[in-house]
Amino acid sequence: MQTDEVIQKFKNTGALLEGHFLLSSGLHSSAYLQCAIALQSTADAIEFGTALAEHFRSAGVETVASPAIGGLVIGYEVARQLGVKFIWTEREQGQMTLRRGFSVAKGERVLVVEDVITTGGSTRDTIEALKRAGANVVAAAAIIDRSAGSADVGVPLTALAALKVLSVSAAECDACKLGEPVVKPGSRKVAK
Ligand SMILES: [Zn+2]
Repeated sequence: MQTDEVIQKFKNTGALLEGHFLLSSGLHSSAYLQCAIALQSTADAIEFGTALAEHFRSAGVETVASPAIGGLVIGYEVARQLGVKFIWTEREQGQMTLRRGFSVAKGERVLVVEDVITTGGSTRDTIEALKRAGANVVAAAAIIDRSAGSADVGVPLTALAALKVLSVSAAECDACKLGEPVVKPGSRKVAK
């Protein structure tokens, strides 16, 4: 699956919007990404999962682990295609941890799968949780790397597509300077 095909699928489904957006961080951006929208289509989820699984067919992965909630759909699909176990991490009082009786054997070869890498924070926290539990985290993967390669998660990272989207404060926003109304994604209303 080519990078353009991934991006095109995101645009076609409305998972990637272009315009003038107010993000939950308060910053303004010319693009808005909502991976869950792209993964609503089970056929597309299978395609993304196939493309990611291809990278790791011979990597000796024993388990796929994903940070909840974002990583669950794609992580499960990659695990299913590799024919391996799937587990997830979730935050407990702020700390990413394995719950629900999930465990890994000492040295178990784990691949961490996310939907989108932004700063790499949840992937790094998931890797740390797995290492504390004794796993050998061999690699990380995501459908989209929003850091365009700059996020360091401490293990080799594979993404189907990279996307560099700048977020700026309203004061620095070119679209604001042009007087374009800013849209809050998820609502149909124009913000402010
Ligand atoms: Zn703006």
